[in-house]
Amino acid sequence: MLKGRDFGSPLTEAPTTNQQRQSGICNQIWEPNAPNKVRHFLWRVCKDAVPSKQNLMRRKILMEGKCEQCGVESEMAIHAVWECATLNEIWEAVLGFEDQRQHAISNTTYLISVLHEKKKNLEIMAMVMWTIWY
Ligand SMILES: [Zn+2]
Repeated sequence: MLKGRDFGSPLTEAPTTNQQRQSGICNQIWEPNAPNKVRHFLWRVCKDAVPSKQNLMRRKILMEGKCEQCGVESEMAIHAVWECATLNEIWEAVLGFEDQRQHAISNTTYLISVLHEKKKNLEIMAMVMWTIWY
């Protein structure tokens, strides 16, 4: 039985539809000419499937999920590669992304859709995120 995993209930319908739209955006990041490993990394960030502190805490590997850089926020994937205040200097130095820091976006797929709409270079974004993570 699928007790507790009933994805068919009306309550879960809206998020599912939303998730489908979001994974559509996630799939767009396969288009850039970035190296495979970078695109794959970005896709994992999209799915929050990277070993962020928050994820490691959820799996009881770490005791707390705070970002080591700023020590304030929970370190989710998006925080580690975009949101953290300690990354201001890096992103402000990336051509085309200097003025994007005002967006307090804590959702990777939303961030990508915003940047995609603004015709920002997602390839560069992916490369910078990859560099920050590694
Ligand atoms: Zn931080």
